[in-house]
Order: sequence, then C-alpha cells, then structure tokens
Amino acid sequence: MAAKDNIYDLCIIGGGIHGAGIARDATLRGLKVVLLEQNGLASGTSSWSSKLIHGGLRYLETYHFRLVRNALKERETLHQIAPHLNRPLGTILPLGLKTRPKWLVRLGLFLYDHLYHSRAFAKTRTLNPNKDALGMLKETYQQGFLYQDGQSDDVRLVMANIKDAANNGALIAPYTKVTHIAPNSEKKYWKIQTIKTHCDDAQEQHFYAKAIVNAAGPWADKIITQQAQSTSPESLRMIQGSHIVVKKRFESPHGFILQNQDQRIIFVLPFKQDFTLIGTTDVPFEQAPEKAHISHAEKAYLLASYNLYFKDALNHEDIIWDYSGVRAICDSGDKKASKANREHHITTLEKDQLKMISILGGKLTSYRLVSKQALDQLQSVFPNMRQCQTDKRPLAGGAFEDFQHTLNKLEKQFNFMPQAMVHRLFLDYGMDIQNIFKGCQSIDQLGKHFGGNLYQKEVDYLIQQEWAANDYEVLYNRTKQGLYFSKEQTQKLKDYIESHKS
Ligand SMILES: Cc1cc2nc3c(=O)[nH]c(=O)nc-3n(C[C@H](O)[C@H](O)[C@H](O)COP(=O)(O)OP(=O)(O)OC[C@H]3O[C@@H](n4cnc5c(N)ncnc54)[C@H](O)[C@@H]3O)c2cc1C
Repeated sequence: MAAKDNIYDLCIIGGGIHGAGIARDATLRGLKVVLLEQNGLASGTSSWSSKLIHGGLRYLETYHFRLVRNALKERETLHQIAPHLNRPLGTILPLGLKTRPKWLVRLGLFLYDHLYHSRAFAKTRTLNPNKDALGMLKETYQQGFLYQDGQSDDVRLVMANIKDAANNGALIAPYTKVTHIAPNSEKKYWKIQTIKTHCDDAQEQHFYAKAIVNAAGPWADKIITQQAQSTSPESLRMIQGSHIVVKKRFESPHGFILQNQDQRIIFVLPFKQDFTLIGTTDVPFEQAPEKAHISHAEKAYLLASYNLYFKDALNHEDIIWDYSGVRAICDSGDKKASKANREHHITTLEKDQLKMISILGGKLTSYRLVSKQALDQLQSVFPNMRQCQTDKRPLAGGAFEDFQHTLNKLEKQFNFMPQAMVHRLFLDYGMDIQNIFKGCQSIDQLGKHFGGNLYQKEVDYLIQQEWAANDYEVLYNRTKQGLYFSKEQTQKLKDYIESHKS
C-alpha cells in the first residue's frame, strides 16, 4: 500500500482552467487534492483562447439560450471575485449591406442585455456613423452597435485559481503525465501512475485517490479510453482555432466583432496594451491536440476578414505572433464546426465503486460553474464535503472593490515604475502586485532588467510561486512580455533561469 502522504481525496488530471477551478473549489470544500499536469500549467487550450468572458452572442442564433444565460451570470460572478481578470470591454458590432439585418442584430443584443441583468457590464447602444471608432472602418460599415463583454487573460485566470488551491494545501505537480489509472489491489483507491516529463530519466511516481476528475480538455477522451481503458460515453469532435497578433491598430479601447461573409464571426481585440488580437478560425482537426498549428490559409482568412472591414489593410508581414488551440466539442451532429454545441458534458465512470468524473467541452467563462457541478457529483464519495464557496471568495489578487480607484492608488505607491507597467502588473496579478514588489521603493530594487517591463523580482516570483520552469513560460505563457523581447534578451533570461534551477 502507498505511503500515507501519497494518498489524496481527489486527483485532478489537467492544469487548464477546469483542473485549476476544481482544485480551488475542492480545497475550499476541505478535500486533500493533487493536480497533475503533463506539461507546464495552463499550457493547453486554456492558453490559446480569445480570452473573452462572454455569454457568446453568436450562440443565440442557434437558440442556446440556457448556455448564454449561464455564461452571462458567470461573467458577473467572475467580475466580482476577480475584477482584474474580467475587465468590461466595449465591443463594436458594425453593420453593412451583407451582414445580418439590423433588426435581427438588435433583437439578439436585446436578449443579450436582458437574459441576465448585469450591474458590471453596460447595455447596448447604437453608434453614430463616422464617429465612435466606426471612423476607422470602410464606408460600407458606418452603422453599428456597441455592447460590453469581459476581457480576461486565460493563463492568469488559471494561475489565480491554482495559487489559491496551493495556498489551501493542494499539491500542484506540473510536468507529471498520467500514464495509467486503475483501482488498487484493495479496490479502495484509484492508483494513478505517472511519469515526470521534464527530466531525461522519466521518473515514475504513483498517487492514490478516492476519486478522480479528468479535466484533460481535448485529451480527456484519451484519458478515458487509454489511461483508464474504458469506453468514452460521448462522441467528441476536435476543432482547431487560431489567432494572429499584430501591432496595435487603433487607439480606441474597444474591440470589434466582425460578421464574416461565410456567416462566421471574427474578433479584433485590443491585446496587452500595444497589440491587436485577431481570431478565431474554426477548422476540424484530427491530429493529437498538441499538434495544433496555424496554417497559411488560416492566416490569410483572418487577414482577409480584417481587411474586409478596416480602411488600413494588413498583410502577412504584419503578423508578429500567432497561436492555435484545439477545443473538444460534444458532437451534436452539426457538420459546421462554428455551429457545433459549446455546452459542456460531465460524465461519470465507475470501476469497483470508485468514481472518475470527466469534463468534456466547456468554456473559459463557465469554468467556475462547471467545477462546482463536477464536485457536486462527488458528494456521495465525500459526504462531509463543505458547500461550494467559489462564487463569494475573491480569487488570488481579487480582493479589491473599484478597479480604477485601486489602480490610481497603486500608481502612487509604485511611482518609480512607468504607469503602463503598474497597469500591466495590476491586470496580471491584482493585489498580489504588493507581495511581489514588497519593500521595493526604487527601480534598482527590482533587480536585473531583462527587457520590456520585466525585472528580476517578477521573474523570481514566477519561478518560485507560479511554477514557471523556462523562458517560454515566463515570456509568453505567464506575461506575454516576449512580444517586446529581442533574441539576445530572451537568451539572457534563459541563462538566468537555467542558473537558478535548484
Ligand atoms: C480558439 C479558441 C478560442 C476560445 N475562446 C474562448 C473565449 O474567448 N472564451 C471562453 O469562454 N472560452 C473560449 N474557448 C474555450 C476554452 O478555451 C476552453 O473551453 C478551456 O480552455 C478548456 O479548458 P480545459 O481545462 O478543459 O482544457 P485545457 O486547457 O486543454 O487543459 C487540459 C490539460 O490537461 C493536460 N493533460 C492532458 N493529458 C494529460 C495527462 N495524461 N496527464 C496530465 N495532464 C494531462 C493538458 O496538458 C492540458 O494542460 C476557446 C477555445 C478555443 C480553442
């Protein structure tokens, strides 16, 4: 039998938004938790999204009213528990001759405003031609509406949940791949076999748990069929979605939702202060999820969608970064990828009366609710488990009231930093900015400057408190500061991280 410290109430497979949300919820309910992630934390779909906390206006067209309402409710809750990770973003919906009729769009937005009453997000208003940022669009798109949704950073949202879980006692194990799952010989626990994936000699390790949550995103099916050697109850489809990043195209703080000629919609969003994010595509995908990669055709498609609307045209040379992710969608039989049902499914596998819950599909926006639903299904295994508290307790860094007021105070406190840096840090870490830079009163006290507005203090924090293991995780996954870095600066950071590995 296992050593006692290897025995957990709950083992979570996957360090994406669902795994992170469940880990936080479960520790708050008093469970002893281990979270296993085969790569770096938030390295899967949860780092490749459009980063919107939204009801999903387009799902109204396919009559998914419950999906939209629940998501709008979650949008509100997330704004309360982590105002820095769900900022209201004005989104312009331009209308032209070939777009959906104005009355239909207005009706959709009316429903969007009223399916759930929001206090944090403003209602739709009609825009004036050639004003309100419509001016940067071509003459044919001089009508439109402005509505609000939430803008987040998917990785930061994962990290906030994981840090809370760790602070509540969860063991977080990145670079630990689950290779086999079965009831142990006494049939009392699941025995979870793993290998370490970041060292040359792939070390094996076993964990024991009373229950498992399979939150492996697009790999969840594989966990059921290969690692647990069972049959998947759902037919899943994989869809690749890609984004491109270009230098900031407009001063307006708003984003755009463009109706493409193929009836799909494309977002053009402000991204990380100095950039614009354009996405997404929807391409059926049949390879392993880790093979997702943007094609030339996808880039051309996104550029063409932008160029259809905006006066200043973009071309391939303008693309400075791109990314692709795969979502698993429970098959509704709809042939068109963009029309497929985005609703999540929670399924239960039982072996020798041991339960493994799997989360299939879902959205970043609804992760908290899905986490709650998944754990509620384990009430019979953990009869003394406490009630869910995640809708009330602030997430890591989220314990403040008014965003602008708090930002102003932080700008005064950290007046030796450029304002843009304080703003970025506040969005990324919320009030944790005060722990990271505790005692610092001048720029020299932040240590080595690596590039962009990234200093040694933050890098050390990312390594020590956020499990960052390499330059990619620091620069692109956790901070996006890599968008400002030269090759030489990246190499220096890499050398620094290597020399500080224990
Ligand atoms: C292009 C695109 C845009 C999107 N935009 C939005 C949006 O704007 N708003 C929104 O609400 N939703 C959006 N979504 C949906 C959202 O991103 C996903 O629903 C969500 O990120 C899925 O999270 P997850 O935790 O289930 O999966 P993942 O984030 O993929 O996490 C699963 C993790 O499990 C790990 N894993 C797999 N196998 C093993 C194993 N054997 N052992 C250990 N670990 C393992 C993986 O490495 C991975 O890190 C978007 C999705 C895509 C693809």
